[in-house]
Amino acid sequence: MKKSLIWQLIIAFILAIVTGLIFGDKMQVVQPLGDLFLRLIQFIIAPLVLATLVVGVTSTNNVKKLGRLGGKTVVFYLFTSMLAITLGLVAGKVFSPGSGIDVSLEGQEAPEPNETEGVVQTILNIIPENPFEALTSGNMLQIIFFALFIGIAITLVGEKAKPVQQFFDGFAEVMYKITSMVMVTVPIGVFGLLAPVVGEYGAEVLLPLLKLILAMMAACILQIFVVYALLVKQFGKMSPVRFFKGIFPAFTVAFSTSSSSGTLPVTLKNTQENLGVSKETSTFVLPLGATINMDGTALYVGLCSMFIAQYFGADLSLSQMTTVVLIGTLASIGTAGVPGAGLIMLTMALSAVNLPLAGIALVGGIDRILDMMRTSVNVTGDAVASVVVDASENNKT
Ligand code: ASP
Repeated sequence: MKKSLIWQLIIAFILAIVTGLIFGDKMQVVQPLGDLFLRLIQFIIAPLVLATLVVGVTSTNNVKKLGRLGGKTVVFYLFTSMLAITLGLVAGKVFSPGSGIDVSLEGQEAPEPNETEGVVQTILNIIPENPFEALTSGNMLQIIFFALFIGIAITLVGEKAKPVQQFFDGFAEVMYKITSMVMVTVPIGVFGLLAPVVGEYGAEVLLPLLKLILAMMAACILQIFVVYALLVKQFGKMSPVRFFKGIFPAFTVAFSTSSSSGTLPVTLKNTQENLGVSKETSTFVLPLGATINMDGTALYVGLCSMFIAQYFGADLSLSQMTTVVLIGTLASIGTAGVPGAGLIMLTMALSAVNLPLAGIALVGGIDRILDMMRTSVNVTGDAVASVVVDASENNKT
């Protein structure tokens, strides 16, 4: 069954590329299949995150253990994000994708810098004024906040809160079941999302920025097959081959949807069923990761800042690079796992180091392609964290 899903996905992938190349824009006709899948998967997210995270917190059973789990997870996330953004900067230096390209920015609109609300307001915004509104609007950080508190309070109340805990346990199981049902449509969804993209981005769009795309690809490959493989083997005590096979469905869903939040149901399923990560760890680490851990996006911010500096004939100084690393790492926490979010982070990084925001227009044209790559890395990074944290927890008990 699992093998056949992998094969179905590979076939869907190849079919999407071949038909997209042959029929070009006409492949828009299959977009509804992709949209159908997107909606199916989106409708699971908010209740799934609430239920699984409450279960994740309550199953740790005591607040001290929760603190340990939370601490490890956040440290791991920060560490890998910083590593990724540094890798992006290095890839930008080595491949120099921005020097000697002939893409004119004339006639392109320079985007307005986004009004950011400031650090204090951003932090305050994590606390929902109305948790049910957070659920209806799908505000992930607020849902996480709500779920963490419910979970902690259940643990503190003890016996009397058992029925509430059992409710969330059961509810989480129901959401997993719905996920399994939706999983049947994954190959169709991947095809429906990918074929129109391949069709739309003909060679004319891609070629001028080919160097950037290739640099991004190389850096992602390094991050996945060197950094993650090492982490999984060293600290997760798992063979990288098993890891990559097990996470492959989530990887393809991430690639085609460009949304780590949207991929979360599949990531949870893959890590639990294929990689043997305990529910306790995965339900805690993964919903958090889908929102606050974005290695691929961090990498992209590093690489594209370098790219844009090169395009405008500037060189990033060491202190500018340090700023990019810090901003990128922090911004990756505050950005939602939805398509296109990384572009906003890049805007933040550019204005922090005084690079022309017009550079966004350069990258914007191919952002969908870069988004697919970075989201796959984002999701893989979350899964790595779940494996590593789970292994370290197993040593404890
Ligand atoms: N699409 C990415 C994600 O969902 C975020 C981004 O745009 O970088 O992980």
